[in-house]
Parts: sequence; structure tokens; C-alpha cells
Amino acid sequence: MSQLNIDKIRADFPILHQEINGKPLVYFDNAATTQKPKAVIDALSGYYEGYNANIHRGIHHLAEKATSAFEETRKSIQRFLNAPSHEEIIFTYGTTDGINLVANTYGRSFLQEDDEIIISTMEHHSNIVPWQMLCQEKGCVLKVIPITEHGEIIMEEYVKLLSEKTKIVSVVYASNALGTVNAIKEIIEEAHKVGAVTLVDGAQATSHIKIDVQELDADFFCFSAHKLYGPTGMGAMYGKRELLDKMPPWRGGGEMIKEVTFEHTSFNELPYKFEAGTPNIADVIALNTALDYVNDLGLENIAAYEQELLEYATEKLQAIDGLKIIGQAAEKVSVISFVIDGIHPQDIGVLLDQQGIAIRTGHHCTQPLMQRFGIVGTSRASFAVYNTKEEIDKLAEGLLKVKRFLM
Ligand code: PMP
Repeated sequence: MSQLNIDKIRADFPILHQEINGKPLVYFDNAATTQKPKAVIDALSGYYEGYNANIHRGIHHLAEKATSAFEETRKSIQRFLNAPSHEEIIFTYGTTDGINLVANTYGRSFLQEDDEIIISTMEHHSNIVPWQMLCQEKGCVLKVIPITEHGEIIMEEYVKLLSEKTKIVSVVYASNALGTVNAIKEIIEEAHKVGAVTLVDGAQATSHIKIDVQELDADFFCFSAHKLYGPTGMGAMYGKRELLDKMPPWRGGGEMIKEVTFEHTSFNELPYKFEAGTPNIADVIALNTALDYVNDLGLENIAAYEQELLEYATEKLQAIDGLKIIGQAAEKVSVISFVIDGIHPQDIGVLLDQQGIAIRTGHHCTQPLMQRFGIVGTSRASFAVYNTKEEIDKLAEGLLKVKRFLM
């Protein structure tokens, strides 16, 4: 039995209480983005209504209030990730932006021709393309860890790929398309044995798994606020100070400088060196509210409840004739990807939408992974803390209706 009061939690999310196509909304697209509690929405409007001001350089009351709220989020993220210091937390536009930052600064400065970068088969495009672009520019080689039919990384194959040529290992903690939770600590440990730097794509992990970057010994860890009940278009990256210190800045502009003349510019200290221009102030502040929300519920409680939902849904969906779950790892976050014999995922999505059920269909920005399984895409239901077993029943009934309609 869950420690959480799910009815009360549902009441915190205004968007859930509406009808779609005449049916109560069932929102199962949480791996794409989670919904936002009223407190987060209020934090956004509270900033614009009460203390909108640009941060850091202002000395008036509003600027100081905004600056302090903005910097508080950095400290909350530090605690949330258990990072050693808040100067090692860089605000980004999200996971994609964090990975691009590392590729464009660390990668471009310290990688050379024939150096190798390792990723896995189950990476999101945002953890493939920045490295490919880097490889193209520097003549590096991208190596890919194979996975099993169940959707798990083959550790022996990974270890075989490692050598002194390996400079970066960048792997997803939890897969958005399969739900697989990777043995990220072990992956990092092996990478460090050959002196490689590691990046963890934490986009799908932070809302389900307690993160401790020191215990993982991750060199970089990226996540997005919008998968964590926070706003879209912002996130953060943790980086070890010794690496961030030696990395050059990426974007140039205000805030990231110490002194500018037309002849020379000296750069600001951490974390500001990587934060050029006026940031996404309201959204940063609202992320703090989202973190409070998650901390108040307790990540362990959220994870335990979501596992209950995952098990329930796995059982229900597996009972449907012709349905195959893609991604059957021993350890999963609350994501179920599936295909149904003879039915295109798109049709499933459209017909479920007519019943008020929102799922995601397609390649989930993991086209190489879909190729690995020899499919064009999947239908994916992903659960958050406000979802219920009754909603999963509706999904199962909905899928039976889809089958009756199309077959
Ligand atoms: N990695 C994974 C595993 C993801 O699920 C996502 C978002 N779907 C991303 C990276 C990219 O996140 P964002 O679009 O917020 O930058």
C-alpha cells in the first residue's frame, strides 16, 4: 500500500481535471514531460507578478529578491544531486543543452583525432548527435555498447570497448524508450579505470531514482526540469569542479565575463562562466518549487508507488493477445513500451486519444534503438505519481477496443 495520498496529489495538478473527447483525461505521457503542480505554476506567476527583475547586477529590492530566489534553486539542486558545491551546478536549457555544453567545451578542447567516445544503443538522439558532430569535427570515433533482447546493456561488451583511446563515456541512466535502469555506477567505474570522463544523461532518472553524484562518481550529470514536475526549457548540469575549471566557456556574452576590453576578455568564475546572457529566471525559481514538491512527497515513496503501477500495468498489458513489451529489463522506471501485432503504433495513439488517453507513439527520439529491435516505433505509456491503477484499467480496456476496431 502506498504511503502517498494519490487523491490529494491529483488535486495539486489542475490540468488533470479535464475531459478530452468527452472522457476524463488519462495522462500517460510523463516520460515526454510531467504535468506541473499548482505550486509550480504559482511560482512562475508569483515571480512575474511580484518581483520580476534581472538578476545579479541589480542593487534594487526586486533584483535582490529575484537573485536570491534564483541562487536558492542552485543550492537546492546541489542538495538534490548531493553535489559537493553549488558552484558545480550550471543552469542549462535542459539535458540536451547540458550534453552539448560538454561536447562543445570539454570535447572540443581535450579530444583529438582517433580518440573514442562510447555511448549505448539505447541513447536518446540528444546523447548521440552532439557526439557525432564532435567526431566529425575532430576525427574521433563513436563506439556503441550493444544491448540484449530485454533491453539491457551487455557489460562484457562494454568493457571490451574500453581502452586508453576512450576519452568519454556518455550513457543514459534510465531509458525513455525502454524504461531500463542502467548499472550506471558500474559503467562509470569501468570508464574511470581507463581514465575516461563520464557523462550521465539523467533526464528520465531524476523523477524516479534518488541521485547522488558523489556516490556515482559521475563527472557530468545532466537533467531537465520538465521531467521533474518543473517548467520546460530549463535544467541543470553538474560537473566536477576540476573539469569545469579547465573547460573553456562556450557561449560568450554578459554574465560569463569578469572584464572585457576590445583586446581581451577575462572570464567569470564558476558557475557563471557557463551562463552567458539573461537566464530563464522564472523557470529556475519554479524548479525550486518542483524540487520542494518532490522532496515533500519523498522520492522513495514516489518510486515505490510508480513501481506498483509498473507491475500492475505490465501484468494487464501482457495479458492482451498479440501485445509485446519492448524493454523487459530487470530494473525499470515506470515506462512501458509495446507493439501490437498488425497495428501501427500511430493508430493506437490516435484511437486511445479518442478515449481521452494520452500516450506517446513513434521512435521516442531513439531511432537507432528502434532499428536494433527491427521496429518503426512503439506505443509508450509512462507513469507519474498522480497516475492510478484505475487509469491503467482504462488503458487496457482502451487497447482491447483499438484491437476490436482495427482487426
Ligand atoms: N535524454 C533522455 C533519456 C530523454 O528522455 C530526453 C527527453 N525526452 C532527453 C535526453 C532530452 O531532454 P530535453 O529535451 O529536456 O533536453
